[in-house]
Amino acid sequence: MMMIKSGINKYISVMVACFVCVTVVAAQQIHYTVDIDTHGHYLHVEMFATELEGTQTMLKLPVWAPGYYIIMDYPKHIIDFAAAADTQPLQWEKVGKSGWLVNHGDNKSMKVTYRVFANEQSVADAKVTTERAFIPGNGVFMYIEDHKELPLTVTFNLPSGWEKISTGLDPVSGMENTYHAKDFDILYDSPVLMGNHTTLFFDLEGRRYEVAIETPEGMEDTPFLEDLKKIISASTALIGDVPYEHYCFIFPGPGNEGGLEHINSQASFGITFQNHNRSAYLGLLYFIAHEFFHLYNVKTIRPIELGPFDYDKEVFTSGLWISEGFTSYYETLLLSRAGITTPEEALSKHNYSIRSIENAEGKIHMSLRQSSYDIWLNFFNHSANGNTRISYYTKGQILGLLTDLTIRKMTENTKSLDNVMQSLYYDFHIAKGRGFTEEEYWSVCANIAGQPLTEIREYVDTTKEIDYVKYLDYAGIEIDMTPYTGQEGRPVVQRSWQMSFRENTACTPMQLALRNAIFLK
Ligand SMILES: [Zn+2]
Repeated sequence: MMMIKSGINKYISVMVACFVCVTVVAAQQIHYTVDIDTHGHYLHVEMFATELEGTQTMLKLPVWAPGYYIIMDYPKHIIDFAAAADTQPLQWEKVGKSGWLVNHGDNKSMKVTYRVFANEQSVADAKVTTERAFIPGNGVFMYIEDHKELPLTVTFNLPSGWEKISTGLDPVSGMENTYHAKDFDILYDSPVLMGNHTTLFFDLEGRRYEVAIETPEGMEDTPFLEDLKKIISASTALIGDVPYEHYCFIFPGPGNEGGLEHINSQASFGITFQNHNRSAYLGLLYFIAHEFFHLYNVKTIRPIELGPFDYDKEVFTSGLWISEGFTSYYETLLLSRAGITTPEEALSKHNYSIRSIENAEGKIHMSLRQSSYDIWLNFFNHSANGNTRISYYTKGQILGLLTDLTIRKMTENTKSLDNVMQSLYYDFHIAKGRGFTEEEYWSVCANIAGQPLTEIREYVDTTKEIDYVKYLDYAGIEIDMTPYTGQEGRPVVQRSWQMSFRENTACTPMQLALRNAIFLK
């Protein structure tokens, strides 16, 4: 069954309304209408563009989605492309794998229609079923080449029986199921969930929050909403600025357990409350805190290569160990600061990461920096020989801990990694409107620590063995370095790497202060 309800008259009324409500009136205006074919797994997209320049317009579709570092080749899902001016068909030709060149002559407006096959499930794929539609914009909405800065509106025509639309996009007041984005970066950064999922709303510290969840069963038996608020408060308090008016937690059900960060939303699959053991519950909170803290670390605090994006090809950066690894470090720290986890639980989480890196062979083959740069070849380390790779999530988390310990040690606990994150946010994102270069990152660290982090940088740029005993001692933490017996022939020495808090009476006041700052112990 197809649900086609679009029409030119409806479309024109939307355009008129948008000229009124959008404060920035650009030369060109773009409006999309999306209809949903729930049985065929298709999205029917109609794009109307006005004030076209010249006689030809190149439309492009991204081939990847920021945060998901793999070429997705979204144009492969496009069929039935057509263009028209009024009722006259326009000629067009395909250019490369992601371009459609439309010859509109003297016509200053055109309507473009196409269908998108939407039947793959991931955080970066559109999927339509009879129950719901999950729509990340990257593979769905074409943009005019060199004009990603244009504002746009989009109307979603819901299939009958569907009642909910959840997204970080701003609704257009007075226009049913219609949303506005100030440019295409925002559109592509705002996935949409439609269907009959459960929605919960709350206000916190002057901002509006929505939780859109498909599997809420059992949530009422947990302190989830209160814990979520604590995580939000701990995160925003760290930076001290909240760069959104509203935020949407999009929690589609199980099927793909990944999550993807966005500037004022997250799409995190597999959030369920059926398993009540504490470890599973904390795993769920860590996951959500990770995607939430990304609104700072990677969306605003970012390597300079990560925005504005070239959606045509890979964007190489050596800084994902900061963007992902430090986010993994902070997911742990934020749950501690929120009062959700114990010091021992936080220590155990870091211990797990140290073990997974140090007992694996990849650590002798690949630096943390290289792991980031080459991710396009080895998404989620799915390389031909995974043993030769390391994860910038886990080793980056460890470097977050070591960097925090080092800066606190060097400054007698007057400065920390928090100050680095704040500087990267205010001195680059806010003051300069851009990300930071690799050298700028190390310079910020040196300024805050009072001296260069020479050895820390070696741990990032090379495969040098990490001196855990020295760094963990800063906070009175011990680590078992005893090799396992009977491990001859292994490429790396196997150890338990078991960490433990030293007795308070055996610690200096500074060790106790650092331990308290990081582990709340
Ligand atoms: Zn992440």
